[in-house]
Amino acid sequence: MVVRTSGAVAPSDDALSTLALQIVETASKPDCTITELARLAEQDPGFAARLLHLVNSPVNGISRRVSDVRQATSLLGVAALQNIALALAVTDLVPIGTAGETLLAVGLRRACAARRIAEITGFANHGEAFTTGLMLEVGFLRLARQDLEAAARLAHRPALSRPTQERIDGHIPHPLTGSHLARKWHLPDPMVDAIAHHHQDKPMPQPLARIAWAAERVAAVFEGGEVDGLRSGAVRAMVSIGAKPPDAEAMLKDLPALVREAGQAFQRKVGKQVELEKVLSDANLRLVELNKNYQDLLASMELMLKDKEKLVAELQRANADLERLAATDGLTGIHNRRAFMDVLRRDIARARRNGSKLSVLLLDVDHFKKVNDTHGHQAGDAVLVAVAKTAVGTVRTADVVARYGGEEFVVLLSGTPREGALIVAERMRVSLQALKIEIGGVRIQVTASFGLAELKPEDDPDLVLGRADAALYRAKESGRNRVVADE
Ligand code: GH3
Ligand code: MG
Ligand code: MG
Repeated sequence: MVVRTSGAVAPSDDALSTLALQIVETASKPDCTITELARLAEQDPGFAARLLHLVNSPVNGISRRVSDVRQATSLLGVAALQNIALALAVTDLVPIGTAGETLLAVGLRRACAARRIAEITGFANHGEAFTTGLMLEVGFLRLARQDLEAAARLAHRPALSRPTQERIDGHIPHPLTGSHLARKWHLPDPMVDAIAHHHQDKPMPQPLARIAWAAERVAAVFEGGEVDGLRSGAVRAMVSIGAKPPDAEAMLKDLPALVREAGQAFQRKVGKQVELEKVLSDANLRLVELNKNYQDLLASMELMLKDKEKLVAELQRANADLERLAATDGLTGIHNRRAFMDVLRRDIARARRNGSKLSVLLLDVDHFKKVNDTHGHQAGDAVLVAVAKTAVGTVRTADVVARYGGEEFVVLLSGTPREGALIVAERMRVSLQALKIEIGGVRIQVTASFGLAELKPEDDPDLVLGRADAALYRAKESGRNRVVADE
């Protein structure tokens, strides 16, 4: 539950304010109207006040002063309000305090960079670029809400090495957590992609992703590392996506002031923003040697991480194989009893929640001992494989067929009442009867008996299976090769 007061911090780990989410979701509906949005935004006076402050700040470049939300929404339009709501909500995730100021500056630096890059490369939606830039480090903000110190430490690492440092520290890299969050919040796909790929070596082809990629490189100039290289890298990045070199140089120079301005627009502190000239001269004095060592360290760590991650991946594959093996019957390749019981427990719980029907079929091959005695155990095995295959072939893919043990099989029909299950069982009985299994020139035919039970409200897995078993017993008693239902 998110409680919002003006300037407050949303309490849960990765919750955007419910109001902001509502605005974002409403705005992305094709039939959304300005009136509807304005009504939403007005629901929370704190939100409305901050929205107006933001709209009237120089960041938005609106010349007219706007005095109420309705006016703001009609002036800005649906898409812009969506972006502003998102931006407000995201900045609310940033904790108050010195560490928070650093983190907010990191976000706003990318936001301002992305907006300016949009302007100088002719990308029309400046607001979307701004919000995307702000969202690039949202995975970072999530870490900050769990471990502020860890996030603050990372924020003091050179920007472009952060995903590696995150892996060294045992965190999931922020492009991954950030894009997961963005998807969870139902943000538009281009934004999700831009967040996911902003640290890649080369930019993606999509315009928004390219802007985000360049914005990361621009922000990096101000966030430590070998600054001359970073500066030329940032200019190259901007030029490679269509900016003119003088515009690219100018934007680097303007960025600290833009971040200060954005801080005022959001009514939040962003710490001291160092001018480009100062960053360049500082680096010449002391940072180069330190960063050279750090870069070497990162390079060797990167190799170690690659090895480690390869091992982890192999281990995960091996575990997945083991898990699959543990759930599979060795002879027939279908689910074993253990796996079936897991599914049955889950589906009974689901049926109870949804008030839906569920039926269970137990199937036992008739006089199977005679097959073994007449044709040998190996032929018996081949019959069991053929029975399993036929059983699987007569049900829908959503139905689960498992080997219950020996020559007994069980079928779970979720969402199916007794009448439907009777039809399935009868169909299966006829298919098995028609099945001809050739082994070493000998043709073997089998039949099977079926016990059927429908889930009752008070049932647990054992009770429903017990009734199916009792019905199966009656099917055997009354002559075999038939279907008997419980009751
Ligand atoms: P009924 O019609 O009453 O079910 O008679 P039945 O002979 O099928 O019943 P019973 O339970 O007496 O015999 C089951 C036989 O299935 C005995 C057992 O050796 C055989 N069996 C169990 N598992 C396997 C298996 O994996 N492979 C083979 N070939 N036979 C198996
Ligand atoms: Mg049998
Ligand atoms: Mg048996």
